[in-house]
Amino acid sequence: MTPSAHALELAQTLVRMNTVSHHSNLELIHFIRDHLARLGVTSRLTFNADKTKANLFATLGEGKPAGVILSGHTDTVPWDGQDWSVDPLGAVVQDGPEGASLYGRGSADMKSFIGIALSQAEHFLNSNAPFAIHLAFSYEEEIGCFGVKELIADLRDAGIRPLACIVGEPTRMVPAIAHKGVYRYRCCVRGKEAHSSLTPHSVNAIEMAARVVGRVRDMAEGFERNEPRFEGFDVPFSTASVGQFHGGIADNVVPRDAEFRYEFRDLPTANAAQMQAEVVAYARSLEPAMKKVAPTAGIAFETICEIPSFLGSQDDPVTRLAQELTGEKGTALVAFGTEAGLFKNAGISTVVCGPGSIQQAHQPDEYVSLAQLARCEAFMQGLARTSTLA
Ligand SMILES: [Zn+2]
Repeated sequence: MTPSAHALELAQTLVRMNTVSHHSNLELIHFIRDHLARLGVTSRLTFNADKTKANLFATLGEGKPAGVILSGHTDTVPWDGQDWSVDPLGAVVQDGPEGASLYGRGSADMKSFIGIALSQAEHFLNSNAPFAIHLAFSYEEEIGCFGVKELIADLRDAGIRPLACIVGEPTRMVPAIAHKGVYRYRCCVRGKEAHSSLTPHSVNAIEMAARVVGRVRDMAEGFERNEPRFEGFDVPFSTASVGQFHGGIADNVVPRDAEFRYEFRDLPTANAAQMQAEVVAYARSLEPAMKKVAPTAGIAFETICEIPSFLGSQDDPVTRLAQELTGEKGTALVAFGTEAGLFKNAGISTVVCGPGSIQQAHQPDEYVSLAQLARCEAFMQGLARTSTLA
């Protein structure tokens, strides 16, 4: 099974554009906008603050009721320091572990899905479906799902209410109906420095930060001990983890500053906001003693990213549609965060289903097999022929 030359070529074209999250994605967005414009389709662009990045939303079937969104993120993770045997921007097709495959950064995660969706634009335009097909391509997913929040807000403001959304993250074309959330925070502790022989006149920022870290660790152990299990995840309970810790300047100086970063990955049945509130409350309980020594001492928190968990349903029409179009009878859970929870929370029933495997995503020599691309193309051709969403 191989995809059509047109679909493969579009996927390759997108892989060849460098859209690492901190770069502009406008070359890619303008390419898609121009491609659609030649078919008479107008794109809605929503930009980041400095207008270096954009989301693109397009409706194929203007005049029909809003229908099914095909959603993908245009950015990729970087490849600095990774050992690649091919050019990450080369988009070569060569034999791999799963047969002939497209290689390059973003090939699996997730430019191929976008390229194939684009290659089907004419079919979507000519579709007999009683609803429109929408393309929703976002920026900055990989660093916190920032772009799609703007895109969803724009749809709300414009009164566009799609029925359903298919997020094309790599699931090997198996419909996935749940993932955990990812909530990351930075905690900055300000103490008061002193010669280390004079500790009573100081507030040791590292020691205070360590107490908060200890609380995060205690919470993690609590999830493992007590949380109702959500079977199907590799780790069937919520997790918490500290990823970075910085502080101190010398052995004989009580440190004034310490900073650490941590994350919660909450089950769809748990509540990350409550988890974070517990950490903040604990930090607040430490502050009176700190401020007694130094009124300027304190503990501050910053949000790095908040990607909500996702919980769809076997019974959602979009899940059944994805099963029908893929021929898969079951559903899966995935271990990674996606934009699905944000669409779902906006009232749009959502499923995650796309070509390739998350095993290859973010890796050196990232690839997606042509067989997976062919399955994705068949999926979208089927979508163009779909007459109901019930
Ligand atoms: Zn992705």
